[in-house]
Amino acid sequence: MEKAKNILSTVNLTRLIIGLAVLLTLVALFLVVTKRTPSQMRASALDECKSVVTVSNGDTLSKLLLDQGLNHNDVNDVAQLLKQEADIATLRADRDKLEFLRETNGAPVSKIIVIPSPWRQVELTCNEDGAWNCKTIDIERDTRAVYRAGEILDGDSFYIAGQRAGIPAGILADVYDLLAFEMDFERDVRAGQKFFVVYEENFSEGKKVDNGRVLAVSFEALRGNVKMYRFRKADGSAGYYDENGNGAIKSLKRTPINNAKITSKFSKNRKHPVLGYTRAHKGVDFRASTGTPIPAAGAGRVVARSYNKGHGNYVKIRHNGSFETLYAHMSKFAKGVNVGTNVRQGQTIGYVGSTGYSTGPHLHYEIIKDGVHVNPMTVKLPAISNLGKEDKKKFIEYRKDLDDGIEKLKDKPNLFIQL
Ligand SMILES: [Zn+2]
Repeated sequence: MEKAKNILSTVNLTRLIIGLAVLLTLVALFLVVTKRTPSQMRASALDECKSVVTVSNGDTLSKLLLDQGLNHNDVNDVAQLLKQEADIATLRADRDKLEFLRETNGAPVSKIIVIPSPWRQVELTCNEDGAWNCKTIDIERDTRAVYRAGEILDGDSFYIAGQRAGIPAGILADVYDLLAFEMDFERDVRAGQKFFVVYEENFSEGKKVDNGRVLAVSFEALRGNVKMYRFRKADGSAGYYDENGNGAIKSLKRTPINNAKITSKFSKNRKHPVLGYTRAHKGVDFRASTGTPIPAAGAGRVVARSYNKGHGNYVKIRHNGSFETLYAHMSKFAKGVNVGTNVRQGQTIGYVGSTGYSTGPHLHYEIIKDGVHVNPMTVKLPAISNLGKEDKKKFIEYRKDLDDGIEKLKDKPNLFIQL
């Protein structure tokens, strides 16, 4: 009985296999006859000889090239060309992409395409004598200015309202950076306030590739309307300016960490949460989780990187003019930040923690002006760059044109301005 069953199933299995084989052949024939034009066949054959590598953490150019079978001489030649001709000395993890092309499967690499941005490709080609050539190709972009407007609703943060208005996260982060010079997002944001952002969208061959820069931003803040415009000066450098052409980028930021909640304000006397007795709070506390990077509020030179019982791990920076800033309770310092190091505005100097007299992870931030502690939220901060007479005249004309464009976009928010 068992045997009979087995024979039966063997017969069925054979039939099934034959049936499947016939079916597959028919499908394959169908595909060849109907779907595959000769050019598509060629494209797929080429694809087999192209491998695409996205750079990951720990990858180096030489490792990637050796992995693809290049010898040490070729690796050196390619690295030199990239450095000299394309200004590429190191690869960036999760950003740079490399394509390796071979004429046939298993043949040596004959072409390498390095893609550092959607707008630039560097092509390295190996000729018949084995010498490498390098060519940089800039991809043409079509840039459009788009307009997004929104309103703060009850219980909103600016971030939530911005997302609802359709502003992409990266642009919103840039807008925060800009507005943070003028606004305290905790205190100045109320339901009913309106805002708009004009920013670039970059297209290539009709398809959107990425977002560009913020061109204009407006926010109806409690203390008055904040407006900023991006403008390129005659010397080629660009910056942000208010309606009257005054520099909008200040030497210091009031809130070093974007979107962090203030948990304790500057005050002449408050009851200290750890020590228990009343004493002045000489800075502002921002809640943030341990390990959050702390950016320098402004460019300057590190004058202290130390520990004391109250501040825990702290960094103090001396800025141009009469300002100093101090950042306390750090879990650790950023690598390469030492006494004497010059730092840029926004450069990470350490990480949030809870060292010293602290009840939980936060950044304690102080601004000291002429040796006196001042309230970071209200102190008047100098602008980094103001416009000269000629630039200012041009700026006012440019601003009027942009304002006219914005008026049109307000009525028709789905339109864009071709730049
Ligand atoms: Zn504090």
